[in-house]
Amino acid sequence: MTMDHRTTFAGPSPVWHPFTQHALAPEPPLVLRGEGAWLTTATGERILDAISSWWVITHGHCHPRIVAAIRDQAGELDQVIFAGHTHLAAEALARRLVALAPAGLAHVFFSDSGSTAVEVALKMAVGYWRNIAEPRSRILALEHGYHGDTIGTMSAGARGIYNAAYEPLLFDVTRLPFPAQGREEATLTALEAACREAPCAALLVEPLILGAGGMLVYPAWVLAEMRSICDRHGVLLIADEVMTGFGRTGRLFACEHASVMPDILCCAKGLTGGALPLAVTLCRREIFDAHYSEDRRRTFFHSSSFTANPIACAAANANLDIWDEEPVAERIAALGALQEERLARFHDDARFASMRRLGTVAALDLAVDDPGYLAGIGLELAAFFRERGLLLRPLGNTIYVMPPYCVTAGDLDRVYAAIAAAAEHFG
Ligand code: PLP
Repeated sequence: MTMDHRTTFAGPSPVWHPFTQHALAPEPPLVLRGEGAWLTTATGERILDAISSWWVITHGHCHPRIVAAIRDQAGELDQVIFAGHTHLAAEALARRLVALAPAGLAHVFFSDSGSTAVEVALKMAVGYWRNIAEPRSRILALEHGYHGDTIGTMSAGARGIYNAAYEPLLFDVTRLPFPAQGREEATLTALEAACREAPCAALLVEPLILGAGGMLVYPAWVLAEMRSICDRHGVLLIADEVMTGFGRTGRLFACEHASVMPDILCCAKGLTGGALPLAVTLCRREIFDAHYSEDRRRTFFHSSSFTANPIACAAANANLDIWDEEPVAERIAALGALQEERLARFHDDARFASMRRLGTVAALDLAVDDPGYLAGIGLELAAFFRERGLLLRPLGNTIYVMPPYCVTAGDLDRVYAAIAAAAEHFG
């Protein structure tokens, strides 16, 4: 809808925003348009989307190819029940994903968001063990992990004020220490011990970088070692590539850095280039086969009304076309190099406690007395950047930059100039 910028709504908004404390949050800007790395508001202000609108936009807002695919599909087939029916867009997409994903992932289950992709993965893992008559339900996960906000994915993620209220509903998960630099062996030893202690259904990890946990990076060899330990103990490895998938870490999937094939792979966010909600959970043939039976109790009992929505699948196919036809890998490599170069300017700056980069993602921790996700400085920083026409949403004192791949060097300069100004102001 094109809206006249003078349009006003009467009375207070009834909208309840996600992850927002309305008592503290400023009035949200009314965004009318998106193009490339930029958003335009109803007042005509342009905002540089330096976090890809919650890490989803990869090729830029309103990429013409994705827009055209959505338009075409919407005029052809908008939606069809996916139980007992199929359609061209999903069939093509599933085949393309199997060809692109680490070899051995043979089946594709569709859902709608990152949370459901992981929720499905957990159900698949537990269902697998049940169906092969070796019931196991114990899940292992990394400290500081984030996998979504459903009851299941909250259970697997880090615990804190965000899920404390729901604690009675959350299930028990064995958490392994984050493989921080120099402490990687502690994680691997804990994994080995947990696997020996009792049968485990699966280890769930964000490969190489924990997003919401603070953009915490760990080396590829640790993921490879985790794979080996899981193999030795027959534990399934679930890779949550909801954030890392589709190029964020420099490769199509982060698992590729470690040449690791997970048993289950979860993708969402960048799957449609960020234009529409869609998620997939890929799994090995054995997991599908364990659910393949004339005994109906072995069915994988999961669905949602919009499973494999044709318009979203068409957007995802257009995303893959862009990967095929545009120099996306080169763009990502160039963005990574630009990020590295901009970060380097702060290397000796004591106002930053640490910094890191993986692929297109860069993060800097502002040195403050009271660090962490809940550090009040997070909101102040967001407001500071907002005043400078930038969409950045720091995780407490951690400022991260995760722009669409089409961002220009000049755009990045604006971001880093604002970060320098923030260090000056808050440091
Ligand atoms: N897993 C990871 C690693 C994520 O970063 C996120 C979202 O940020 C999710 C799962 C949940 O995805 P969604 O917000 O689409 O439900």
